[in-house]
Amino acid sequence: MQIDLNIDVAPLTTFHISQSAAALAEFNNVAELQQLLASAALPRPLKPVGEGSNLLFTEPFPGTLLRSLDCSINFVVDKGGHISVEAGAGLSMDTLIEECCRRGLWGLENLSGIPGTVGASVVQNVGAYGVEAADVVRDALVVDTATGEILTLTADEMQFGYRHSMFKLTDNRNRYIVLRVTYALTSTPSPRLSYRALADRFGGCDNLTPFDLRDAVIEMRESKLPSPCFIGSAGSFFKNPVIDIAVASELKAGYPDMPLYPTADGSQAKLSAAWLIDHAGLKGAAEGGAAVWHKQPLVIVNATGQATAADVVALEKRIIATVAQKFGVTLSPEVEHL
Ligand SMILES: Cc1cc2nc3c(=O)[nH]c(=O)nc-3n(C[C@H](O)[C@H](O)[C@H](O)COP(=O)(O)OP(=O)(O)OC[C@H]3O[C@@H](n4cnc5c(N)ncnc54)[C@H](O)[C@@H]3O)c2cc1C
Repeated sequence: MQIDLNIDVAPLTTFHISQSAAALAEFNNVAELQQLLASAALPRPLKPVGEGSNLLFTEPFPGTLLRSLDCSINFVVDKGGHISVEAGAGLSMDTLIEECCRRGLWGLENLSGIPGTVGASVVQNVGAYGVEAADVVRDALVVDTATGEILTLTADEMQFGYRHSMFKLTDNRNRYIVLRVTYALTSTPSPRLSYRALADRFGGCDNLTPFDLRDAVIEMRESKLPSPCFIGSAGSFFKNPVIDIAVASELKAGYPDMPLYPTADGSQAKLSAAWLIDHAGLKGAAEGGAAVWHKQPLVIVNATGQATAADVVALEKRIIATVAQKFGVTLSPEVEHL
């Protein structure tokens, strides 16, 4: 267990933007976490964090950032031959995925290259290239900080939706700390090719391995997303808006090339936030050190390395206002502001 006081969050987040936090407390196991939760000396509020790849600290944080250091991985084969992998919340998702691919296990490969930890994967229901964590998560072991109870939550109980889970409900915010997550995998070849570029590349191919999918996904990601090692960002800054189908259809009549994806029940449609930002003329837009990423307009980057959170928020507000003015659609951020 390690506790540091008065820290700078820049190295703890992928935006690499300076801001102070009163404390960072790191724990290896549930006993250490319980000790931390019981300590009246730790500044409040308590906020679980992983790699900070979806966070923007807009002001000094008065409380304690809690981070799991549990990077363990256990593979389990049950009596029915089903394979699952149980991983510690502090493990990097991509390290886990690489290990699963190495063992020829299918399920997580399309999520390759997404920054962040196993713990956050269920909070965020991370998704990319036609797969979401929800498709493979079996359950998660969590501590309820309100009661001190240790619970196993099933996938159903976590109420996954688009970049959503029950952990994000107002009453649950920062209440549960994820300790471990179990994913159900399979050694039976099962490439998921619903994403067009993957279908075009691999459709009809035999003898695919999880690594074929992983390598292709990483190649696509690297061609359009900035690497947090070199350019600060939190990935997609905005969610794709989901709006009433009648409003979406009317909009499409005016912009025939606008992507529109009707939801399963047909009552709503998901629009592409990237397309809206691009066609609102915001390519290359900047405020101070923050800028819209030239290869993917959904991403706001710390372009100069010296951007402040105020620069990012100024650009965010300008994007929201410009898109609303041009298309009548309100974007909302995917990145959590603290
Ligand atoms: C370049 C780039 C590309 C990205 N691409 C994608 C993408 O393709 N798809 C996608 O879905 N996301 C993407 N993201 C966003 C980000 O990687 C995910 O949201 C990721 O799950 C965040 O993980 P983290 O460990 O950094 O969590 P943090 O950013 O540290 O935290 C995110 C949330 O999870 C909570 N949390 C973290 N750990 C725990 C825990 N142990 N217990 C309880 N709560 C916890 C935090 O309180 C916070 O609310 C991208 C980000 C970047 C920088």
